[in-house]
Amino acid sequence: MLTFLMIGAHPDDMDTLAGGLAMKLIDRGHRAVFLSITNGNAGHMSMDKDALRLCRLKEMADAGAVLGLQYDTLDLDDGYLTADIPTREKLMRYIRALRPDVIITHRSCDYHPDHRACGQLVMDCSYLVGVPLFCPDAPAMRKPPVILYSEDEFTLPAPFRADVSVPCDKYIDRKVQATLRHKSQYYEWLPYDGHWTEVLESRTEEEATERLQERLLRRFAETVAHFPAGFPEGTHYGEVFQIDEYGGPMTAEIRQAMEG
Ligand SMILES: [Zn+2]
Repeated sequence: MLTFLMIGAHPDDMDTLAGGLAMKLIDRGHRAVFLSITNGNAGHMSMDKDALRLCRLKEMADAGAVLGLQYDTLDLDDGYLTADIPTREKLMRYIRALRPDVIITHRSCDYHPDHRACGQLVMDCSYLVGVPLFCPDAPAMRKPPVILYSEDEFTLPAPFRADVSVPCDKYIDRKVQATLRHKSQYYEWLPYDGHWTEVLESRTEEEATERLQERLLRRFAETVAHFPAGFPEGTHYGEVFQIDEYGGPMTAEIRQAMEG
């Protein structure tokens, strides 16, 4: 059994980037755990930070229940994440306690400062995870995890490269359902922030849900459209990952668990 740890900066990041993979792995008898480094307490236009934090912790648990996995957080403030030493130590203790075979996270070139810091923190842990005198209270790992990056659209310093392609057609409905459990984001903050007028103008929650489902399905279909080469003919929905050169070496067993 392999253990995969998906680390996002915010409580809804990994649902959209690796939710299909997580469900596939669990179906195949592997373990998948989501970790949101921040508690998401900045993404709203009317709730205060404390109310939003509680709301987002509940949404994480709801999404985790749909995906069938453990959804953890380091409970740090949203919008304030930095790749400093205390945060590196916190993350290192979490990684060493779980001892994952694979870590998935954001690249450190991304529009959101928390995503950049999150990718940097994982890179900073990738070698030190095996150094016993860094965080000596948490036993070092003898085998460094394979590190993979989730998809993004950014081109500098280099565009995202799809090294591993995971077909997800079978899981797409549950992936949409899990994503929409982050209600404060998908029904409120993201339409407000991104001017999603068709959602903002919905007259009922049912209508908003329909329009959000259409929007998410369109977005999730873009992955196969952008990176068709790695997918079997006829695949509509998938997720892609780039192998990071600082992590452990990719193995045939891990690739088989993801792609097969
Ligand atoms: Zn995010």
